Amino acid sequence: MTSSPLLVFAAPRRGQPPTHLADLDEPGRKAAVVAAGQPAFRADQLARHYFGGLSRNPAEMTDLPAQGRAEFVDALLPALLSEVKSVACDDGSTRKTLWRAHDGTLIESVLMRYPDRITLCVSSQAGCGMACPFCATGQGGLTRNLSTGEIVEQVRLAAAAARDGALGEPGRLSNIVFMGMGEPLANYKRVLAAVRLITAPVPHGLGISARSVTVSTVGLVPAIDKLTAEGLQVRLAVSLHTPDDELRDTLVPVNNRWKVGEVLAAARRYADATGRRVSIEYALIRDINDQPWRADLLGRLLHERLGSLVHVNLIPLNPTPGSKWDASPLPVQEEFVRRVRAAGVTCTVRDTRGQEIAAACGQLAAASR
Ligand code: SAH
Repeated sequence: MTSSPLLVFAAPRRGQPPTHLADLDEPGRKAAVVAAGQPAFRADQLARHYFGGLSRNPAEMTDLPAQGRAEFVDALLPALLSEVKSVACDDGSTRKTLWRAHDGTLIESVLMRYPDRITLCVSSQAGCGMACPFCATGQGGLTRNLSTGEIVEQVRLAAAAARDGALGEPGRLSNIVFMGMGEPLANYKRVLAAVRLITAPVPHGLGISARSVTVSTVGLVPAIDKLTAEGLQVRLAVSLHTPDDELRDTLVPVNNRWKVGEVLAAARRYADATGRRVSIEYALIRDINDQPWRADLLGRLLHERLGSLVHVNLIPLNPTPGSKWDASPLPVQEEFVRRVRAAGVTCTVRDTRGQEIAAACGQLAAASR
């Protein structure tokens, strides 16, 4: 987060998005408003429109002077993302949108309606540097970090879309998962600032409950510990994908730096500090990580390290184009679930939304490159 008002009107550095209200702290916002020739209290008015009204449309901001209003709004709430395309599936209850940032960077977010909630899957980086071989985003490498404004803007746009009936019945965006493109904990500062704005009450933020926000990570141990120290109630998800270091070294290459045992110890510290169950993400890949012995080992290990403070989410692999890997067959999935549960660990298979619209991490952006 930058609080320097001088940056507001400076030409953006290559790759850096224009500074947005959401990138600034309270004094920074006021200073930016003053620098734009308006009294400081208008920072609050803008925040109300943006976080409360989910709007950056000057026509709706009749409490601002008409003279120069559009320029003022554009300066403080710049259009960070423009829609390239949206595709719907699952009878309209899933909607994936490809966005273009100011520098041409493409990012994705996916909005999903369930009977009891509306969830948005957001991107935290353009591309990803973690290089997991089964993930479409991992294949392209990291382009850049997203700014706090770009992350919050994905949520603001989705909340407005849900409210306006993009998924059929108008509804309230209730859940956020950082499971789009990127490794959120590798963009720690901006992601944390975004989480705070997503969860702060209106008009200071978007008013989504912290307990309904999930931060998913490959297992960057120092960053998990840092998150633990923040004292937030967000859910932590760890992309484990296998219980053994030998295979994890290739499936999640960062395992060469932080081993399964260290990642689970950090997850335990998080669970102990927050009282919240940690989710373990496990993409089931046919004949790679879906063997019965791996299910047994996973169950034993998690039960021993996390006790009841863990839940396993199995995700049948969403095959990426050109990959030789495939999802595990249904009977194999079922046997895997049975064995993990037998070890005393809760386990479910995630319902795979968006398969027909290539909604696995990074697939839409990959197809548009
Ligand atoms: N970098 C973070 C968050 C982004 S990915 C992380 O790794 O947790 C969100 C989840 O989708 C991760 O568990 C990731 O491993 C999984 N994933 C990526 N590509 C997938 C695919 N093709 N099929 C199934 N799951 C996939």
